[in-house]
Amino acid sequence: MKRIGAHVSAAGGVENAPINAHEIGATAFALFTKNQRQWQSKPLTDESIAQFKQNCAKFGYAPEFILPHDSYLINLGHPERDGLKKSRAAFLDEMQRCEQLGLKLLNFHPGAHLGQISEDECLQVIAESINMALDRTKDAIAVIEATAGQGSHVGYKFEHLRAIIDQIDDPSRVGVCLDTAHIYAGGYELRTQDGFAETFRLFGDIVGFAHLHGMHLNDSKKGLGSRVDRHDSLGHGEIGWPPFAWLMQDERFDEIPLILETPAPEIWSDEIARLKSYAS
Ligand SMILES: [Zn+2]
Ligand SMILES: [Zn+2]
Repeated sequence: MKRIGAHVSAAGGVENAPINAHEIGATAFALFTKNQRQWQSKPLTDESIAQFKQNCAKFGYAPEFILPHDSYLINLGHPERDGLKKSRAAFLDEMQRCEQLGLKLLNFHPGAHLGQISEDECLQVIAESINMALDRTKDAIAVIEATAGQGSHVGYKFEHLRAIIDQIDDPSRVGVCLDTAHIYAGGYELRTQDGFAETFRLFGDIVGFAHLHGMHLNDSKKGLGSRVDRHDSLGHGEIGWPPFAWLMQDERFDEIPLILETPAPEIWSDEIARLKSYAS
């Protein structure tokens, strides 16, 4: 079945996220486990962890349908020593927080070369960063998000995702998340049935659906291949509703978190209901 949700607020504590997800009719959700704009956050309290687990159980959210997202400050491909060190420490903290919460996935943007190293070198640094975090954690899976390729971000080609995976010591602990707005802005057609089929054929050939641990369902304000990351509500952007209906009818996207990061939270419940109607 399809597991559909949104990136909900964890304001007031991570334990509120599953409640917020339940209120919009979600069967999956995403959250930040710490303030995404700060390097430092207070450790999770035992009470918060226990409440989070209790609320997830109460509303039926199994760990494989919860897709936490790391801080936007982290750059695992940072070309400078200090920036890289800080990012690696923060990423390890994010992985450890996930494990404390009993979660299995951590979604993150691979990184940016800042014009100082090549894309290949950046991908190599990212892989090394992931290996270091996996080494120090138990079983959480590092889920690399495909990017729009804005600025100097890598990860806008399926080949980039494959290059990272190939350098991971334990491939069972690395996965990917496809964001529809990102891959479209990165140059992958979704609007026509032929384009949609070709995009996911390429993904299957280059990365493989076994590594697909989640998707972000967003429309895009910017055009095909624009390399600009601007999300829109479903049906309001360049992509339109039909590709989201095709996704809902495609069993390759069963049993993974399908997460809205669309800009109007007040219509998330409507977007989820409409997606569910296509899935049945
Ligand atoms: Zn993201
Ligand atoms: Zn995303």
